[in-house]
Amino acid sequence: MTQTRKFPALDWFRLAAAIFVIAIHTSPLIDFSSAADFWLTRVFARVAVPFFFMLTGYFLARNQFTRLPHVWKRTALAYGAAMSLYLPLNLYAGGMTLPEALQKIFLTGTFYHLWYLPATLFALPFVWMLCRLFAKTRVRGRRRRFNGGLPGLKGALCAASVLYMLGLFGDSYYGFTAYVPVVRSGYDALLSIIGYTRGGLFLATLFILLGAALRQKSYSTHVSIIGFLASLATLSAEAAWLHSLNAPRHDSMYVMLPVCMVFLFSLLLRYNEGRSAFARDTSFIVYLIHPWCIVLVRGAAGVLGLETLFVTNSFVHFCAVTILSVGLAALPFIYRSLVGRMAKPSPTARAWRELDTNALCHNAAVLQDHLTADCALMAVVKANAYGHGAVEVARILQKKCGVSAFAVACVTEGIALRKAGIRGEILVLGYTDPAQSFLLCRWRLTQTVVDEAHALALSTQKKRINVHLALDSGMHRLGIPATDLDAIRRIYALNSLRITGVFSHLCIADSLTPEAKAFTQQQLTAFYAAIDVMQRAGLQPGKIHVQASYGVWNLPAQPCAYARVGIALYGVQSDNAPVAHPLPLRPVLSLRARVATLRTLQPGERAGYACAFTAQRPTKLAVLTIGYADGLPRNLPACGAHVLLHGCRAPLVGRLCMDQMLVDVTDICNVTPGDIATLIGEDSGATIHIQELAEQCETITNELLSRLGSRLPVYQVER
Ligand SMILES: *Cc1c(COP(=O)(O)O)cnc(C)c1O
Repeated sequence: MTQTRKFPALDWFRLAAAIFVIAIHTSPLIDFSSAADFWLTRVFARVAVPFFFMLTGYFLARNQFTRLPHVWKRTALAYGAAMSLYLPLNLYAGGMTLPEALQKIFLTGTFYHLWYLPATLFALPFVWMLCRLFAKTRVRGRRRRFNGGLPGLKGALCAASVLYMLGLFGDSYYGFTAYVPVVRSGYDALLSIIGYTRGGLFLATLFILLGAALRQKSYSTHVSIIGFLASLATLSAEAAWLHSLNAPRHDSMYVMLPVCMVFLFSLLLRYNEGRSAFARDTSFIVYLIHPWCIVLVRGAAGVLGLETLFVTNSFVHFCAVTILSVGLAALPFIYRSLVGRMAKPSPTARAWRELDTNALCHNAAVLQDHLTADCALMAVVKANAYGHGAVEVARILQKKCGVSAFAVACVTEGIALRKAGIRGEILVLGYTDPAQSFLLCRWRLTQTVVDEAHALALSTQKKRINVHLALDSGMHRLGIPATDLDAIRRIYALNSLRITGVFSHLCIADSLTPEAKAFTQQQLTAFYAAIDVMQRAGLQPGKIHVQASYGVWNLPAQPCAYARVGIALYGVQSDNAPVAHPLPLRPVLSLRARVATLRTLQPGERAGYACAFTAQRPTKLAVLTIGYADGLPRNLPACGAHVLLHGCRAPLVGRLCMDQMLVDVTDICNVTPGDIATLIGEDSGATIHIQELAEQCETITNELLSRLGSRLPVYQVER
């Protein structure tokens, strides 16, 4: 789990693309060379808006478009805000007729650059519909679904390509329609209604789908670079040729543009790691506000009598608009980071947990990227999210990472999440007393059926609840035996259970020995055989899932709807054993306490309960404000554990107390009361990894983490 320097290429290209859009609207090079300006603003910068559409498709495909309603709503809100922002300019420009207003609101955008938003609003549901339409023709069966990725994508792409071709003739190929008068008048009639063919139907649909397709397959670095340069050259030639013929009505759609975009996007994906909240947040605002900035720059230049410099000189004009737009867009960011820093003084608690929200989001993204487009991340947040704070973790995952499925161990954990505003699926993995099924119903929790008797008892309750069937494929913990089709059939016959999923759990997927791998393979075979038999018997399994963290690390991609990931989400392995597919995850939790006081002992003096420590030399001990009641194992000192103080390791000594512990700081200078000690995590370049601690205590990180916390507050930090 090494960390390399990350470069979030997709996020930074957003900002670049927003600046390209400014270029399109300010023609920076026109004073120097009209050919160069033509190339920049009519050819090269035209990658900007298709790039935004592709990003939308790329991110939606991560969860099989389940986030589509959410993205649509957000886009609609943004459009509403943008319309009000430009209302003063619309009013200033003078009135328009009702048909004009309708055309602008629903198709071309109420201000010239805003067309992107209504286009997205149209294209999102349209893309979904196309995929559904073509998915119907899909062959049934899991292999096929797995290989095909997003169902219906290929067919939808073909349809969208045809639409794009048709759109070309209303855009840069418009001149050619003159050869066939019927076609010309057809296009003219269409264009009088929709304004431009660049828009949702003819343009956005294709690029959103291309973005989605690139999640499944993109090109290597070499192919991407060569492909991009070659297609850009061809695109430039195409544009020059069309202009020499005077064919374009507009310059948004070229034959080579989609080809060029596929290679460009592939290339960015090669260099994309991590995310930049700054580039992400500012790029959209830059895009949104730059026409206002054009007005402001012109106005200010007029007032100051600097028009020759700031308006007539197109390059300075472009720079001024860009600097103003980026500066204004960055204001909320600067404000937030200032206020954030001020609002977060270092914790005053005696001991606390730190939850690195960036690491958590990074891990969720790494895992989602690693899983196939068909397989969504089900975040396992049982046991207070392995000691990280379930509500905090689930909120971050829901809000920032697009996670919409969660798993908990029991009903109370599920209810706590719902009360904290967590939507989507929440699966209770453990046994629930059937008498509590009204709670399952009331809080819309999905219950695991642990065996046939449990199914029967749940079904006799008044409430109809959602369940997932656990199949026992060899672990012999929970589940109906995977081979017992009769039992499964009887459970399906129980009307008051709505079976929305079937799953199994692997018990030795963390081991890579040949015997372990063979056992896991047997489990998988038993699980999929049961699913096949069920499907053939006409029993719908719904969402199937079998991988937990080690299933993700050690198995190839599975044809499932979910992967239930716990420990990997928190950025650590259970132990130090190697895994087949290591992922670049980052630990999320740090654990810190304070130095309460310092003691100096002479040789032979003793300290702590049972006088368990005897000083062998003049010794300085620090008393730390954390103990076994905070969740630490009582045998920690005997295990050879250390803490970090000023970036140096100090060994634990004596007996661990309920609320305190002793560490030997003789070899560390300048330790003073109030200093922060790190039990897990990084301090001044040194790190105590929880896997190391788990190994010392002969346990796994899962146990250490999940026991933490009964009275340790959680502080969210961003690293
Ligand atoms: C806890 C649990 C998981 C998560 O396991 P990790 O190894 O932490 O990813 C998945 N499935 C079931 C049934 C579990 O009980």
